[in-house]
Amino acid sequence: MAPRVAIIGAGFGGLCMAIRLEKAGIRTYSVFEKADDLGGTWRDNTYPGAGCDIPSHLYSYSFEKYTSWTRRYPEQPEILGYLHHCADKYGVRRKIRLRTEVRRAVFEGGAWHVTTSSADGARTETFDVVVMAVGQLNRPRLPDISGIEDFEGVSFHSARWNHDHDLTGRRVAVIGTGSSAAQLVPRVAERAAHLYLFQRTPNWVIPKPDAVFGPVARLAFRFVPGLQRAYREWIYRYAEGTLYPALARGWSEGLLRQRALRHLRDQVPDPGLRAKLTPDYPPGCKRVIIDSSFYPALSRPNVSLVTDPIARITPKGVETGAGTYEVDTIVYATGFKSTEFLTPMEVIGREGRSLHERWKDGAEAYLGISVPGFPNLFMLYGPNTNLGHNSIVFMIECQVAHIMACLPYLGRSGPIEVRPEAMAAWRRQLDAAMSRMVWGAGCRSWYKTADGRVTNNWPGPTTLYRRLTARPPEPAYQPVGAG
Ligand code: NAP
Repeated sequence: MAPRVAIIGAGFGGLCMAIRLEKAGIRTYSVFEKADDLGGTWRDNTYPGAGCDIPSHLYSYSFEKYTSWTRRYPEQPEILGYLHHCADKYGVRRKIRLRTEVRRAVFEGGAWHVTTSSADGARTETFDVVVMAVGQLNRPRLPDISGIEDFEGVSFHSARWNHDHDLTGRRVAVIGTGSSAAQLVPRVAERAAHLYLFQRTPNWVIPKPDAVFGPVARLAFRFVPGLQRAYREWIYRYAEGTLYPALARGWSEGLLRQRALRHLRDQVPDPGLRAKLTPDYPPGCKRVIIDSSFYPALSRPNVSLVTDPIARITPKGVETGAGTYEVDTIVYATGFKSTEFLTPMEVIGREGRSLHERWKDGAEAYLGISVPGFPNLFMLYGPNTNLGHNSIVFMIECQVAHIMACLPYLGRSGPIEVRPEAMAAWRRQLDAAMSRMVWGAGCRSWYKTADGRVTNNWPGPTTLYRRLTARPPEPAYQPVGAG
């Protein structure tokens, strides 16, 4: 009998899982989505300039090669359009239950009891398998700066853009200088009377060689045999062969630094501004920004880079030790609660074990996918599967393949869970690989917990991750009975 599968989240991960089930002829699944549309991060992040710094042809499913991409680097509306296209083409849209939030999942009597809340109230349904596909960057983080609630103007987070608030002629403060800020600052600066950008830590920035794919290029991708595949493969290998070694402190680390410093020199003529923008930690420790319009925006007469630490938010603006910057709008580009995996959901495994209790010192999972004591529970884009150098869609496809390989096993044996020995071996491998990566090199980032443990990133090459997830799952798992 086909397993009943609950998929939680309808972003890149959840849709991929649903499509693979459909392709395998398994129709006994439901996709729960708390928002009013599919798309995950690409539904939430609609700020001006939102886009992806991984090329379109790689930031897409390997099985759905889209030939209509209009740019080398896709912008948010096009990616969201691609996800809608996939949901329709593979017939999974009818299975998505929008505005239905999963609050709780409890393993009892050999099955998962999933409690949702929606306009119709709370409801509990039973499934054999649960696939968590909620992502790592789905809950915006407002900074812990005092006075936020006292501000009398309009304020919002970058991932909750207020499109009703016209920024033309406004005095705007943007707090944060990560990838989101780098994309939105140039667009906001075109409209605002003045933009104050509050930087706590500078980031390394390298150019984004964007280009438009005109009708001829699009026709070529469509009709020249093998072109799309070869182009995708080339982008993948380039990222893997040049960027990964930089993050592993290998041969290209110096090259990455030089590339970023040259980009800074080329784009920022003012030496004072350049000094403020030069990081004092190795490139890659925090996510490298890939962008060619951020630096030029900082040289505009209506943009000021403020590096004095923020003391507080006041009713009229942002106060630092050097004075108060009066603004009528504050944009918090301050990132996400990235290390709090699966919160605020309550997940209770075998013998009443709480997943969050197990993870109190930081989340971890075998292959980033499964946890001992939590039978038939799988994660997509779980702990230690984020990348700083390549497409996360590649990782998601590896995870979905692994889960698909587990399904016949649990179909035969009843609920399965990862063996504690497999988990321990995985942890040792991860720790050994992590110790050579640049993320530990004395910087603060969303990749790690407050006490410095890297819970978000995968420390190996993605080729290795593909090999590990493609192995037959049986030796690492064991049947658990009804539990
Ligand atoms: P982020 O990288 O976590 O950046 C948050 C920014 O807010 C940092 O500059 C941080 O400063 C600052 N900040 C946080 N709390 C602060 C405080 N109390 N006072 C002052 N500054 C504060 O978040 P993000 O820019 O939203 O990006 C998150 C991730 O999303 C990216 O790394 C990337 O993986 C993904 N993303 C990708 C793309 C893409 O093109 N593919 C685009 C956007 C986002 P510190 O650095 O000092 O902590």
